[in-house]
Amino acid sequence: MSKNYETLDPENWNEMRELAHRMVDDALNYLEKVGERPVWQEMPESVAERFQTSAPKRPQGAESAYKDFLENVFPYPMGNIHPRFWGWYMGNGTVLGALADFMAAIMNSNLGGGNHGAVQVEEQVINWIKSIIGMPAESSGLLVSGGSMANLVGITVARNVKAGFDVREEGLQSNPQLTVYASTEVHSSVQKAVELLGMGKHSQRKIPVQADYTINIDALAKQIAADREAGLRPVCVIGNAGTINTGAIDDLNALADLCKKENIWFHVDGAIGAVAILSQKMKSQLAAMERADSVALDLHKWMHIPFEAGCVLVRHGDDHRTTFSLTPEYLAHEVRGLPGGKLWFSDYGLQLSRNFRALKVWMSIKEHGLDRYGRMIDRNIDQAHYFAGLVEKDPEMELTAPVGLDIVCFRYNPGGKDEGALNALNKEILLQLHEQGIAVPSYTTLAGRYCLRIAIANHRSRQEDFDVLAAEVVRIGREWA
Ligand SMILES: *Cc1c(COP(=O)(O)O)cnc(C)c1O
Repeated sequence: MSKNYETLDPENWNEMRELAHRMVDDALNYLEKVGERPVWQEMPESVAERFQTSAPKRPQGAESAYKDFLENVFPYPMGNIHPRFWGWYMGNGTVLGALADFMAAIMNSNLGGGNHGAVQVEEQVINWIKSIIGMPAESSGLLVSGGSMANLVGITVARNVKAGFDVREEGLQSNPQLTVYASTEVHSSVQKAVELLGMGKHSQRKIPVQADYTINIDALAKQIAADREAGLRPVCVIGNAGTINTGAIDDLNALADLCKKENIWFHVDGAIGAVAILSQKMKSQLAAMERADSVALDLHKWMHIPFEAGCVLVRHGDDHRTTFSLTPEYLAHEVRGLPGGKLWFSDYGLQLSRNFRALKVWMSIKEHGLDRYGRMIDRNIDQAHYFAGLVEKDPEMELTAPVGLDIVCFRYNPGGKDEGALNALNKEILLQLHEQGIAVPSYTTLAGRYCLRIAIANHRSRQEDFDVLAAEVVRIGREWA
């Protein structure tokens, strides 16, 4: 073989091997010391400018590309690897999860279909998740990018199965309007799905919540009855297993009963809370997920799988398959050879080419076992109550919602200020916490009150980290009040 034959492989495998070893060392050193660095720091202008150059036409080489990464990207992480990151709702990732992603990229298998090892891995991971959630063996599943895609898949199947006409054949034109139902607290990805599915956002009925932020079942039943009366066709109810704002868990059993009675599809958005069924504390409240027609869940949140990893399960695999399967001759399945294999994941979702995201899930579950994940989840829930206790004890802070799962909403309120001033003050506290690199809570607005919000999906947080947050909120609050 000619030595100068051009490929994209390393010109010198030993040099590349040496670089790869250095990358692994840099990566582990970086993570081992993550807690000693600021949670977040803004990229300086002078660095940001380096991202304005055009793509190189000539090779700059692996060594130089890596140097650019080390200098310009690595120092500016989002922060969710840090023990004091509790923003939005994210996981930390793990070392083995990252290494598994590397091995998956090395194999570079395409999980669209075919008969190869990666398919076995994804199938086994889906089977494990089915049994965690309590779905029957004949249910189907798909690993997807995250909760948003899992909701889209679940609601698509719901629409097609419950429409009462052949949606794939006829589309939605000149058919009765289809409606879906969820509380006002449901995640925005549901509305995106409803819009993308051509139902229009007005088809998503937003049902009021009770004081604990769970859906009002009576109001839901009334809305369904009124819509039927008006000639609309209810197809799907979405129950929350952990709302994004406050971690509230809808009464899933009552929703399952109602859906059964009304012949409506029951989808659970468990992006946050579904995996909390591994926690001894939460098990019973989440048990009714097993009654759902479909469940969306995230693995890159409370399971700490590196982004992206979510999963959707559908009770009747046939419903799932007939919604998405489309097999042109160039993708025909065979019984032998590489195009063999009974399970083609491209029959269960929108994507044809799919990455090997199952490997990081499979290796992580083997590394830690499900019981450890359950303990990590339990500990985060305890930490939420610990922090809520600190807030309640402090006369200058207050809770703004009941603690739900691992989510605490609170604000600084020293007294004597109107709502407008409190909103502005709490926003300043939030941004100071970020800019000073102390901690990353996020924010939400509940009943017009701006509040700080921590979502503790963090296997690295320790009790001291919450003491730091409580003390710093008060310090900054006094400074800016
Ligand atoms: C995060 C989240 C989603 C969206 O999931 P992604 O993984 O970000 O796509 C949906 N629903 C809830 C309740 C969430 O918390």
